[in-house]
Amino acid sequence: MIRGITAFKCTQCGETFEGWDAEWRATVFTCPLPCPKCGSIRTRPPLHFPWSFLDRFGWGGNGGYETIWELMEKEQKGKSSNRRPEGVASR
Ligand SMILES: [Zn+2]
Repeated sequence: MIRGITAFKCTQCGETFEGWDAEWRATVFTCPLPCPKCGSIRTRPPLHFPWSFLDRFGWGGNGGYETIWELMEKEQKGKSSNRRPEGVASR
């Protein structure tokens, strides 16, 4: 589901950009968008989330996004399979 427009920050090159705020697999997480500068999927909303709260679950400084990025990178590599992130239009 698209919730609107939000800011993203790339954790690889530090680029900030705006994009669709879409739910990642019907969770509170915003679906990461590829960085327009370096192409990395390792982006996340900079302000959106109580990261310190998530740290208490041992999810690390990126508030669970490490796990999402790893899944998305696996899916990017395995594009021949029919596993596709939900909410991403197929073109
Ligand atoms: Zn980048």
